[in-house]
Amino acid sequence: MHILVTGGAGFIGSHIVEHHLKRGDTVHVIDDLSTGNLANLAAFEENSNFAFDHGDITTWSGLAGAVKEAQRIYNMAAVVGMFRVLEQPVEVTRVNTVGCERLLQAVAEAGHRPQVVLPSSSSVYGPAKYDDLHENANIVVSPDAPLLNYALSKLSNEVQGRAYAQTYDIPVVIARLFNTIGLRQSGQYGFVVPRFVQQALSGQSLTVFGDGLQTRSFCDVRDTVAILDALASTPAAYGQVVNVGNTQEISILELAESIRKAAGSASPLTFTPYEEAYGQDFAQIPQRRPILDRLFDLTGDQHRWPLATTIVDLCAHYRLHAESQQQAPPSPAPATV
Ligand code: UDP
Repeated sequence: MHILVTGGAGFIGSHIVEHHLKRGDTVHVIDDLSTGNLANLAAFEENSNFAFDHGDITTWSGLAGAVKEAQRIYNMAAVVGMFRVLEQPVEVTRVNTVGCERLLQAVAEAGHRPQVVLPSSSSVYGPAKYDDLHENANIVVSPDAPLLNYALSKLSNEVQGRAYAQTYDIPVVIARLFNTIGLRQSGQYGFVVPRFVQQALSGQSLTVFGDGLQTRSFCDVRDTVAILDALASTPAAYGQVVNVGNTQEISILELAESIRKAAGSASPLTFTPYEEAYGQDFAQIPQRRPILDRLFDLTGDQHRWPLATTIVDLCAHYRLHAESQQQAPPSPAPATV
């Protein structure tokens, strides 16, 4: 199968690339490298089934051609991460909404009907509590909703996806992704797990935002990509919105403890008010645990990686990485002329 991954140099995108190359598929990535990183794709560079183009999804001239060749498209090009979303609100609308529209238009004009996976986000639920985290819940958008611009850009992707699916008979799957974690996720844009792992391993304080009693449910990215693949291969999922995540819920304080334990770290915890952490006050989301009935009805339970295993894997990886960097010989001094 020939796969196109927009935003394929990012965290989840690079795992989609890895998943499909392992299956023997050919994979074409386009990425503007704004938050994505070529280092995320370094392991695949020599693979003859892999191709990369540097391009912005809203302007790249090769998009129509790339779409014509694809049998499946994952649209992972998006502005994500709390810090970046808060700092760059125009980019959120431009990349997330305009980029998705341009991609769907190219699919509509392609002359064939590739499968399209559109990632949405649990942020569309706003501050809703557990009972309302199912796909048919009313989504009430208040002007004070946390990260309204990001949530609306993702809700807009859902509406765009369903509109194109209905009008052009495109097999579109819309995945509402809940918190996703794993290798290659950067803590730079705010994501809690890579931040805590690196803080714990380097002996720095773990920066708990708020009182740490807020809960999240973290899904290993290896499960996420297997689930997205399964959904895209399931005709009953076409045209549907489906929650994708893990139901194992944990408070941020418990998460900090587990990571400290797995890292063998004595790092203290510091508590930072949200306002200080994010530079502005907004209603934090107190709880997130997906209801996965629809997903399980469509694909069965594909989860293989419990949180404890992911945390141990991440600690082992970053510890090894830090050691190999320490042992690396110093870079040669630049030649003088
Ligand atoms: N968080 C934290 N310390 C950090 C980064 C994040 O306590 O250094 C908190 C954050 O306020 C939120 C939770 O961890 O309550 C998950 O944050 P993340 O940005 O990973 O995902 P999201 O907020 O989108 O669920």
